[in-house]
Amino acid sequence: MTTSLTRPEIGSPTQVFIGGSWQDAHGGKTFDVVDPATGETIATVADGAVADAEAAMTAAAKAQKSWAQTAPRERSIILRRAFELVIERTEELAAIITAEMGKPLADARGEVAYGAEFFRWFSEEAVRISGDHTLTGDGKNRIIVTREPVGPCILVTPWNFPLAMGTRKIGPALAAGCTVVFKPAEQTPLTALALAAILAEAGVPDGVVNVVPTTDAAGVVGSWMASGEARKISFTGSTEVGKILLAQAAPTVMRTSMELGGNAPFVVAEGADVDRAVDGAMVAKMRNMGEACTAANRFFVHRSVAAEFAEKLGARMDALEVGPGARAGVEVGPLIDEAGRAKVQRLVDDALGRGARAVVGGAQDDGPGYFYPPTVLDSVDPTSDLMSTEIFGPVAAVVPYDTEDEVIALANDTEWGLVGYVFTQDIDRALRMGERLEVGMVGLNTGLVSNPAAPFGGVKQSGLGREGGRVGIDEFLEYKYFAIPRS
Ligand code: NAP
Repeated sequence: MTTSLTRPEIGSPTQVFIGGSWQDAHGGKTFDVVDPATGETIATVADGAVADAEAAMTAAAKAQKSWAQTAPRERSIILRRAFELVIERTEELAAIITAEMGKPLADARGEVAYGAEFFRWFSEEAVRISGDHTLTGDGKNRIIVTREPVGPCILVTPWNFPLAMGTRKIGPALAAGCTVVFKPAEQTPLTALALAAILAEAGVPDGVVNVVPTTDAAGVVGSWMASGEARKISFTGSTEVGKILLAQAAPTVMRTSMELGGNAPFVVAEGADVDRAVDGAMVAKMRNMGEACTAANRFFVHRSVAAEFAEKLGARMDALEVGPGARAGVEVGPLIDEAGRAKVQRLVDDALGRGARAVVGGAQDDGPGYFYPPTVLDSVDPTSDLMSTEIFGPVAAVVPYDTEDEVIALANDTEWGLVGYVFTQDIDRALRMGERLEVGMVGLNTGLVSNPAAPFGGVKQSGLGREGGRVGIDEFLEYKYFAIPRS
């Protein structure tokens, strides 16, 4: 394994990982990985070509049969070892995440703990894959239902949680007995490559996990989609790319899991505990600098408490320390790139142009790195662009409302449906509103829903399928039923 790191202390492989070996890309091309806190190159990584993608798919297909036949307990032990290694290497992995993605070290450590948990959770699920045995209604036939791995899987992940989005797919795929070809986001390949090294060390056989970083996402993933060897794609990313992949899955009738974008409403009801709602808002908005599919995008606050909520949230946001994620005490790192920052500024300018007031923030910082100040906008017009666009930045847009029917209509007025947050002290209202929200997950008096033990996923254009929880492994399993006459 060779490395090509400007900052060797972050210690990650930089080649493609195919069939258990580290290789330069076909054609020898490389690309730079940039620290968003400085704009400087921190590593040069092999730029996987379509030929590498094909080799990876061949390796995954070749390893599929023997991996599927590996005893569940053995798969479980390997995943458990991977969990332990990830935890052991928390500091190393957190440093890589912060260097290539920008989040503060404390958040990166949190991601390592969260991400590792998918390996532990699915190590426990690997030995609990169960079927069914019943009789037909007339009692003449036995029905025996078994479960089988779907086969080689394509995994594609975004840059915002470079470790956890990988483990959330690799964990259940391996537990189910599937091999994988994995393409991490171009901006964050180092974490994925470090993870591949850990999985190999944990005992994952050659060819079971293959990782191809690339600047040619469409070419690499497209070749896998068209290969005829892949049986499943599990994708996390934008709804736009998800739709392209759904279309590409049609010709081979490939199984799909889609974890797509969000536009989460955060509702503070009449009579809510405002301080508790502000605590929740800080998590729902500021986890990952707002660069999360679960980020609260629209704050609907009952008019009776809207001003108090906006002022208190503004004070908390204003007190956050912004800076390079590796610096001690920093709570808000840079956004991923200049395009991400420019988008946030454009959305803020649009809202201000429609009459919103900046309680804090509102204008981007100058200087190196893609920093954006924590921002609270008050009295936001519901027709503003940021109400219908994922902000993906540290901007809280507060819209006052008057009635429950009104806020439910506003909250559901979006093509997305990943998560909604409701803050209220009234149990009837909490359950009623939670039921009326068109989302896959509801945070009641909490700003955090992500947990490996829970089924994560959305409705409407936020996706298909669930990751984590008891159902997470189902995405990687097929049913087979045996009809057996009783004689
Ligand atoms: P993205 O642009 O859709 O990219 C996601 C992944 O798809 C990356 O690896 C990307 O590669 C790849 N990709 C891009 N174009 C492709 C194509 N034509 N064919 C195949 N693969 C392609 O999303 P992103 O900007 O990285 O991530 C942010 C989005 O992810 C947001 O919408 C967010 O809500 C969503 N997200 C959802 C969840 C969830 O669980 N629901 C979790 C986290 C993030 P490159 O990096 O090379 O472009």
